[in-house]
Amino acid sequence: MASAKHIFVTGGVTSSLGKGIISASLAKLLQARGFSVTIQKFDPYINIDPGTLNPYEHGECYVTDDGAETDLDLGHYERFLNIPTSQGNNVTTGKIYHNVITKERQGEYLGKTVQVVPHITDEIKRSFFKLGETGKYDIVITEIGGCVGDIESLPFIEAVRQARWDLGPNNFINIHLTLIPYLKSAGELKTKPTQHSVKQLLESGIQPDILVCRTEHHLPNDIRKKLALFCNVNINSVIESIDADTIYDVPLLMRKEKLDERVLTKLKLPHKTEPNLNKWKDFLGRLKNPTSEVNVALVGKYVELPDSYKSIVESFVHAGAENECKVNIGWISSETINKENIENILAPYDGILVAPGFGERGIPGKLEAVRYARENKIPFFGICLGMQCAVIEFAQNVLGLTKAHSAEMDPKTPHAVIDIMEEQKTITMKGGTMRLGSYPCELKKGSKAYSVYGRNKVAERHRHRYEFNNKYLEDFEKAGMIPSGVNPATGLVEVVELKDHPWFIGTQYHPELKSTVMNPQPLFVKFIKAAIEHKTTMNHG
Ligand code: GLN
Repeated sequence: MASAKHIFVTGGVTSSLGKGIISASLAKLLQARGFSVTIQKFDPYINIDPGTLNPYEHGECYVTDDGAETDLDLGHYERFLNIPTSQGNNVTTGKIYHNVITKERQGEYLGKTVQVVPHITDEIKRSFFKLGETGKYDIVITEIGGCVGDIESLPFIEAVRQARWDLGPNNFINIHLTLIPYLKSAGELKTKPTQHSVKQLLESGIQPDILVCRTEHHLPNDIRKKLALFCNVNINSVIESIDADTIYDVPLLMRKEKLDERVLTKLKLPHKTEPNLNKWKDFLGRLKNPTSEVNVALVGKYVELPDSYKSIVESFVHAGAENECKVNIGWISSETINKENIENILAPYDGILVAPGFGERGIPGKLEAVRYARENKIPFFGICLGMQCAVIEFAQNVLGLTKAHSAEMDPKTPHAVIDIMEEQKTITMKGGTMRLGSYPCELKKGSKAYSVYGRNKVAERHRHRYEFNNKYLEDFEKAGMIPSGVNPATGLVEVVELKDHPWFIGTQYHPELKSTVMNPQPLFVKFIKAAIEHKTTMNHG
């Protein structure tokens, strides 16, 4: 039986209400009161994990230290709580069925008809309770993806219903997140969609303990009363979640509404002391009172959907606050860039980031962006594919290997300066087969990367199949692009930088996946610092 207390967060009315942010904010408040908390996400789709999804489908794929390809909400959990998540923190319908079907083939249910109830729901509940049983957590928050009433979430909702009885009173609560729309023409906030959503939850046998209501306008008392009456909750369990300037305000807004106190009362946990949010408030103070401002170009191919680059965007928020600098991101589709217009497009920017990605679409524009940053000595930061583009551009334009490329985009290139990793050559399956998760990297003393981190041993997260081709290493070094970070076991080049440039760094790994409010990622912090310096010299130059 689970030893931790469990909070299940469900959603209704519409998707995208921010269950992940509410869960992370509540977890932050509980953590700030001294509880050990983790958050897990259960996604009703059938993919085993989001690793095989196009970012347009589901936003960024977030990678954990232990190499799980997960939902982007796990990024919020880590950024808010400053503790790593793992394989166990993201479970999908695909994973559940996969486990059940494997067990069936192994004969575990011999003689039985394998059914959604109880076999699938039992498997879901086993996964619900797993992290709580490690003894590491006082409280586990489980976010159920999608909306109540969706066909595909039915088994999850049924498992939540059963979990209340398995866990017993005082160990289980359900928080239901809904939307209170504002009808402009009537000048009114409407509670009906929430009433219907709660009704749907009740039909599934779940009485919510707390309602969190997303709204653009404050909820007056009569609306709260009405919600309490129709939804069977205490009026002080109707929590307003008003639109915020930044997601990092939400823990404080939830504190104001006493969400944490309501939760602790219902779970029969002590809440005498106030949560200690001093550091969080310091961060917000820096974020909201910038003393400078920079424009950074984010050159990528999924720019129509900023969620595709969620962790990069949030890393800029953390790095901006650290520098007390407002970071304006310019979203540049690499497909629109060419030799003729590059100057016009990139001139307003104090720093250029070339984003991660897959496939050949938009590559020529990315190479042009690298060249522009290199030649004009504009701070440059390349991540994963962005680093690979920096290597290709250098080979083509500095080493004179005009046909140099990555074997990913041009399998026939005579100079594969970026080549497929040896261990990837025999892999044909697509799901979960990249080089994933945290690997150590040793930074060269005296390099820019070393000075950024202030130490020579780091570990960062990865998601790639291709790598720098060490056959060309000497040529690159001689011409001024140095491998300043290398995997100590394999020699794989993890970081490249230009000697003769104020700030030009490319990383094979994804530093954005480890940036948190409490620990802003150093490369982002120093990149923004370099952008501020660049802007200052340009203004004075
Ligand atoms: N497509 C490149 C590779 O597989 C880069 C991946 C990435 O940017 N995450 O190596």
